[in-house]
Amino acid sequence: MGPGREGGFRRIEDGHGRTAVMSLEIRKVGIIGAGQMGNGIAQVCAQAGIDVMLNDLSEDRIQAGVAAIEGNLSKLVQKGSMDEADRRKALQRVQPAPSYADFASCDIVIEAATENEEVKRKIFTQLCPSLKPDAMVASNTSSISITRLASVTDRPERFIGIHFMNPVPRMQLVELIRGIATEDPTFEAAKAFIDRLGKTVTVAEDFPAFIVNRILLPMINEAIYTLYEGVGSVDAIDTAMRLGANHPMGPLQLADFIGLDTCLSVMQVLHEGLADSKYRPCPLLVKYVEAGWLGRKTRRGFYDYRGEKPMPTR
Ligand code: NAD
Repeated sequence: MGPGREGGFRRIEDGHGRTAVMSLEIRKVGIIGAGQMGNGIAQVCAQAGIDVMLNDLSEDRIQAGVAAIEGNLSKLVQKGSMDEADRRKALQRVQPAPSYADFASCDIVIEAATENEEVKRKIFTQLCPSLKPDAMVASNTSSISITRLASVTDRPERFIGIHFMNPVPRMQLVELIRGIATEDPTFEAAKAFIDRLGKTVTVAEDFPAFIVNRILLPMINEAIYTLYEGVGSVDAIDTAMRLGANHPMGPLQLADFIGLDTCLSVMQVLHEGLADSKYRPCPLLVKYVEAGWLGRKTRRGFYDYRGEKPMPTR
């Protein structure tokens, strides 16, 4: 058997003229966007022994992402679920990547930047020339077409949707989404990577918002309409769904946790992509986003987080 490199993957020959394409093991991951998802993905990779290069718009934002990882790992040590030596090793695996050139040796780059198609398209166009030819590219998008994002790259066959849930270290599920051109070795390599992180894969087709958000976000949007129409207060709606439907978090609390800008983007993608008025984003959600009240990350959304305990804003 003679292993050889074919593009992004290993081509194995069995000596009888037959070949099989094996997917490449992921040893080094690049991450674009060091916000709540990007730093969560970086953390779980580092804990699994995988090297990470972390990028964002500025060195300050990268450092904020690294600080969040540091804080989360320290909490694990305090709880006794990690020892100090492992914490240090995990942290050392996360390195800043202020420029795409820093991704030259990565086996995969996962984009986890703001949920905006123009932003993501620009990232992929600028990123690809810096990558090795066999590198895979993934997006953590909550809703945008993987086929469309892949089309701006030089490697749609090595492009895939890897949709982690928030908060990444705690949530078990990862949705995998093939674009129209995604090849099997890409899918297999992504699946092996998720297995290595100890998470569970569910496969979704490339339709707006995939599975989880196709179901979850219209429910959140409906909760915001319920608030907008005065059916109940923030507290009444969240209490109703926590105690009446046994949800661990109320829908408005969850919206703040996800980020209201992300919620609005997902609803816009559903509304445009499926052309059905039932996905119309609630005007109150639009107003909160326009005010810059994006939820926990800006310390104000349906709740105000600036005091000791969250206070409803309506
Ligand atoms: P966030 O606002 O916390 O972080 C986004 C980060 O991207 C910010 O730090 C921002 O500076 C950075 N960024 C923006 N443009 C960039 C660029 N051109 N280059 C590099 N970095 C850039 O948002 P988030 O919640 O982490 O979401 C990131 C992605 O993950 C989105 O696509 C979102 O839909 C998806 N996602 C979010 C959730 C959630 O619950 N929040 C869950 C699953 C997936």
